[in-house]
Amino acid sequence: CGIVGIVGTEPVASRLVDALKRLEYRGYDSAGVATLEAGAISRRRSEGKLGNLAQKLAFEPLGGQIGIGHTRWATHGAPTETNAHPHATDRVAVVHNGIIENFRELLADLAKDGYLPKTQTDTESVALWVSRELANGADPELAVARTLKQLRGAFALAFLFKGEEGLLIAARSGAPLAIGYGATEMYLGSDAMALAPFTSRLTYLEDGDWAVITPRGVTIRDGKDAIVQREQQISQASA
Ligand code: GLU
Repeated sequence: CGIVGIVGTEPVASRLVDALKRLEYRGYDSAGVATLEAGAISRRRSEGKLGNLAQKLAFEPLGGQIGIGHTRWATHGAPTETNAHPHATDRVAVVHNGIIENFRELLADLAKDGYLPKTQTDTESVALWVSRELANGADPELAVARTLKQLRGAFALAFLFKGEEGLLIAARSGAPLAIGYGATEMYLGSDAMALAPFTSRLTYLEDGDWAVITPRGVTIRDGKDAIVQREQQISQASA
């Protein structure tokens, strides 16, 4: 299972699939990508091998210069297209590796406000919680900061927001995540292997960190929301 992301200046869909291929060694049962097309969230998802997703993209191309991708190893919900990530509302799309232990409590609370899941996954609770924060007036950063404080479990997460062509948010708690630095773009990946075609300059998030990523750079905060500096490394992984 793996996560990739690009906030950039060139089309991203096929590059996301290529980066996901480099994470195949981790195993997966389904895959998907989401981008912004004219500001709106668009998704393509498939059961099975990445070839199925690539084929779907060949028939139904996905534009956009910002996007997130995922290979899933199902823990909650069968490995179907419906349960494949990214999970999305009209406001936010999210990819997740790991387990949200308290998703049933989160969903019960969300249901009181009419936020009902369409899938069997633990992950959808995160998309719905962020959506409710946004609907209540929070901006994307605040919506994610508030949501992260609700989550129990181990996770790596990446978020894409409607109308925000220059913004990805990522979070790490127990599952690895690296931020990659490009010249005019920024990248996100589960490991240096995924990022190798794009850049060798990267920063690993530490446990509890979350990152606001724009085409120009990244701001990293710790679990108490204080801005922190994390070391930049030069990866030896080969493209
Ligand atoms: N728990 C999530 C799911 O079952 C994510 C699984 C993963 O790490 O790929 O959808």
